[in-house]
Amino acid sequence: MWEFKTDPEFQLELDWIRDFVQEEVEPLDVLLGSQWNIHDTRFEKLVRPLQARVRERGLWACHLGPELGGKGYGQVKLALMNEQFGRSRFGPIVFGAQAPDTGNSEILAHYGTPEQKKRYLEPLLENRIVSCFSITEPQGGADPLLIRMTARREGDEWILDGEKWFASNARYAAFYIVMAVTDPDAPPHKSMSMFIVPAEAPGIEIVRNYGFHGEPEEGHAHVRWSGVRVPVENMLGGRGEAFVVAQVRLGGGRMHHAMRTLAEATRCFELTCQRVVSRSTKGEALAKKQMVQEKIADMWVQLRQFRLLVLETAWLADQGNDWKSIRMNVSAVKAVMPKVLHDVASTALHLHGAFGITTQLPFSDLVINSFHIGLADGPTEVHKVVVAREILKNVAPAETMFPDYVRHAVEARAHAKYDTMLDG
Ligand SMILES: Cc1cc2nc3c(=O)[nH]c(=O)nc-3n(C[C@H](O)[C@H](O)[C@H](O)COP(=O)(O)OP(=O)(O)OC[C@H]3O[C@@H](n4cnc5c(N)ncnc54)[C@H](O)[C@@H]3O)c2cc1C
Repeated sequence: MWEFKTDPEFQLELDWIRDFVQEEVEPLDVLLGSQWNIHDTRFEKLVRPLQARVRERGLWACHLGPELGGKGYGQVKLALMNEQFGRSRFGPIVFGAQAPDTGNSEILAHYGTPEQKKRYLEPLLENRIVSCFSITEPQGGADPLLIRMTARREGDEWILDGEKWFASNARYAAFYIVMAVTDPDAPPHKSMSMFIVPAEAPGIEIVRNYGFHGEPEEGHAHVRWSGVRVPVENMLGGRGEAFVVAQVRLGGGRMHHAMRTLAEATRCFELTCQRVVSRSTKGEALAKKQMVQEKIADMWVQLRQFRLLVLETAWLADQGNDWKSIRMNVSAVKAVMPKVLHDVASTALHLHGAFGITTQLPFSDLVINSFHIGLADGPTEVHKVVVAREILKNVAPAETMFPDYVRHAVEARAHAKYDTMLDG
């Protein structure tokens, strides 16, 4: 059965989130910018009280199952929540749903020992610490098989050596989840393992932090690892299972990100609607110009199409399909997400005229952000390859020179099927 409505009880929660985010959280975006250093006294003063209210409402860290204090809502409800708090940069932080901590908490919940859960997962879920997820290296990002960092076993320890790149939050992280080659002679997808490493382990050096346009802080680190030792139990999952472990965090994270992106793009759309009915040129509102109307209609259609794709994928996950079995849908969401934000934010910027490019309005930041989301967690091309590969893998090639959908073949089959009835 198809349904396009939210159950009334949950709608009350969504309404609460919408109002709370607009009234209480959005002001933080201008006061604190993209800075969310949990050790900052302003963070303590402004963010902590809002996090407490979210906890009181029972909406904190809902991405986790009930056994970890989450609600076990499922992906459709999580998507709808992210759509509400994703309007604000601080929304995910206030709701305990900030990447990469959400994904890292999922990995720890699945693979951590009881001691690791106590030491890392509990404070992470309480947002008393933040974490870093580090795969990318200077010579290889889109292709993880180019990873060169090594981990070699010595007694009861693993020793890590190598270079990591674009490690977001490394400078504040209390721990890293890091991928390294443990078995260079194994088949490529079984050659790497995942480790949890405390940030204070000797031998970790932040070489440089890179900043992106529009971010006040340079927060994406080049990190050098020289003889960093961790005990054997710090391997997460089995030896050679880094790709399996990584999958745990990716599906849900991509879906939540998609709905936050939708929220940002929808905001651009709403602001633009207001602008075009308010601003006049050549004796009439912009909204009366057909070329403007076309842009408004195209924006709306693009947003609705994207929303349906994300919600359908979330629904598939809620039917008990694991992320791997619906990776085509997840990759489709990931591939189209940057384009939706780019198109909608660019149109919003353009329809606001010169005002649209200024730093008074969010559009230029969001256009740049569309490039972030087209790269982080794998570039668009890689996800399109997944979609195409999944679509085509069960399609059989034609056995004859001319395909059986050529008109003369279709006619021959139609005649063979119905001529006797026509003749009778
Ligand atoms: C905001 C942000 C935060 C990030 N945070 C982290 C983090 O915390 N931890 C982490 O490990 N990494 C992080 N990254 C890195 C991210 O995962 C990589 O940028 C991504 O995997 C792409 O790798 P690359 O940048 O090296 O691009 P490359 O591998 O150099 O690729 C460059 C371009 O080549 C093209 N291309 C690549 N592969 C293919 C293909 N198969 N087919 C066709 N074209 C292709 C694409 O156009 C691609 O953009 C972050 C990136 C960004 C932008």
